Amino acid sequence: MDYVTIEKKLSNQDKPPNMLGYQHSVSHFDWEQANSLIKGYKNGINIGYEAVDRHVEEGYGEQTALIFLGKNNQRQLYSYQQLQKSSNRFANLLKSLQVQKGHLLCSLTDRSPILYSAIIGCFKSGVVFSPLFSAFGPEPIKSRMEIGGARVLLTSARLYQKKIAPWHHECKSLRQVLLYDCKGQCPPGCIDLDQVLSQQSDNYQINKTTALDTALLHFTSGTTGEPKGVVHVHEAVIYHKYSGFCALDIHPQDIYWCTADPGWVTGISYGVISPLCNRATLVIDNAEFDPVRWYSILQQEKVNIWYTAPTAIRMLMKSGNEMSQQYDLSALRLLASVGEPLNPEAVVWSQKYLGKPFHDNWWQTETGGIMLANFIGENVKPGSMGRPLPGIKAGILKTDKLGNIVEVTTPGESGELAFKQGWPSMFRDYLFQTKRYQSCFKDDWYLSGDLAYQDDDGYFWFIGRNSDLIKSAGHLIGPFEVESALVEHPAVVEAAVIGIPDSVAGEIVKAFISIKPGFDPNDALLKSVMAHARKKLGATLAPREICIKKNLPKTRSGKIMRRLLKARELGLPEGDISTLESDENEIVNSNNET
Ligand code: ATP
Ligand code: MG
Repeated sequence: MDYVTIEKKLSNQDKPPNMLGYQHSVSHFDWEQANSLIKGYKNGINIGYEAVDRHVEEGYGEQTALIFLGKNNQRQLYSYQQLQKSSNRFANLLKSLQVQKGHLLCSLTDRSPILYSAIIGCFKSGVVFSPLFSAFGPEPIKSRMEIGGARVLLTSARLYQKKIAPWHHECKSLRQVLLYDCKGQCPPGCIDLDQVLSQQSDNYQINKTTALDTALLHFTSGTTGEPKGVVHVHEAVIYHKYSGFCALDIHPQDIYWCTADPGWVTGISYGVISPLCNRATLVIDNAEFDPVRWYSILQQEKVNIWYTAPTAIRMLMKSGNEMSQQYDLSALRLLASVGEPLNPEAVVWSQKYLGKPFHDNWWQTETGGIMLANFIGENVKPGSMGRPLPGIKAGILKTDKLGNIVEVTTPGESGELAFKQGWPSMFRDYLFQTKRYQSCFKDDWYLSGDLAYQDDDGYFWFIGRNSDLIKSAGHLIGPFEVESALVEHPAVVEAAVIGIPDSVAGEIVKAFISIKPGFDPNDALLKSVMAHARKKLGATLAPREICIKKNLPKTRSGKIMRRLLKARELGLPEGDISTLESDENEIVNSNNET
């Protein structure tokens, strides 16, 4: 699609980017530089130390680490030193409960201060941390805790009563349930955290962890099937710090806001670890998405770096252009997006209405960190995921006639997005699915399961997930291109495209869209969207059917679940829907064969 590259000219007021010149950084990169960003602890490496204690040791204990914004507009500040002490108390509590290195603690919490003390406390004591999303129902919580063999659960008294109490004693591995906000009424078999924490010492000797000790267990979003348990080690912190430094351009004391919930990998890797390691001040909002609230936070907190997701950006676009104009967003230096394909329309919109383009970047739970990015000082290509971080070798792979995996060398040719093994945050296993883990690696490549191509300038472009590709009349159609064209129609907010079986073409393209307020979901609108798609895409790529839905089905991390749309369309089993959040409601369906 013909979107113009946004040329980046940094004004005098801008801080010089951490990464000076892409080509220069790529050709001069060596891992020693990235490793040297990390101090190390007792000949080992520990995420908690790098994120917090190190800064206190270096004299920055007074700096604000966390700004908590409560649902009722309370505002609480925590310095690095306070976070050091509160995480020490948590680590001491774990020790007193005989929770040891390698044991698993799961969290099911809102975005409240105790969670941050617990995350850092776990790292410092070598206890493996696994976040669960607080909006999960009882079943997905139970199954994930059983798969992981959780020894400890951290949750609130409210969430416990609602989601855990009915099955608490069925989880064989579970020894301790730590509850906050008990208000003096702790249920039997649980520990009143607020009470016991206050008795713990502020001092804690960090438990030595090696580079290869397990630190984190993350469950994937479940967009393509059953969520997988992804294992990460302490060494990942090298890449958390380095990627935050060069892809998100985090400088010490930057005001940094990652909107992802800490129940997901982005909310931990870039919502906690990376910004703390880079000594930023983190904004943490405990309320749900609301455009007025979000714009107000950006203005009031003078946010410098804002890391968010396409769904939220599309919702801001839906709330109207005028709203964006009513706020002073001049403190923003970098707007970044991840998690789903970011339609070029959204990048152009933000450049126009927020004054800066969104910088898309790509990674997955398995990669543990950002692999491709549009960098702050570099040209932004709307619709592209950007280029590999210096030190990362990305490639597009295909299988040749002899069945060998080969790297595509012609720009524009599509294939599977892959990375040469060996970056520090690479996952180390799928829990209890080691064969599946091993099957992700061919020769010395890690295969991502996503399809993409690379252009002449080395930028990567997303086509779709392997499993979402549509094969129609001899053409391979990636959903992203079709969806991006659909959202350019003034009435369309979101679009999801699937292939449905057709006796002639093999598959035909069917689109599901949701529309902006003020537009009538009627046949005339469907015809107008259809005509727009044909004009933009031509008859081969344009959807043959379009259906208007009130909402598109999404995971709780905000990803559109195309597989669910397809299963429902074809009357097939829905599969694992434990991460399903918003569901669909059909309004109008077209079947336009003309
Ligand atoms: P599951 O593996 O359980 O199906 P998931 O792949 O959605 O779930 P995550 O690891 O949270 O779980 O998401 C990573 C995926 O999200 C990537 O493989 C890719 O498909 C998509 N993604 C992330 N960032 C981008 C981006 N910038 N552009 C396009 N797709 C993206
Ligand atoms: Mg995945």
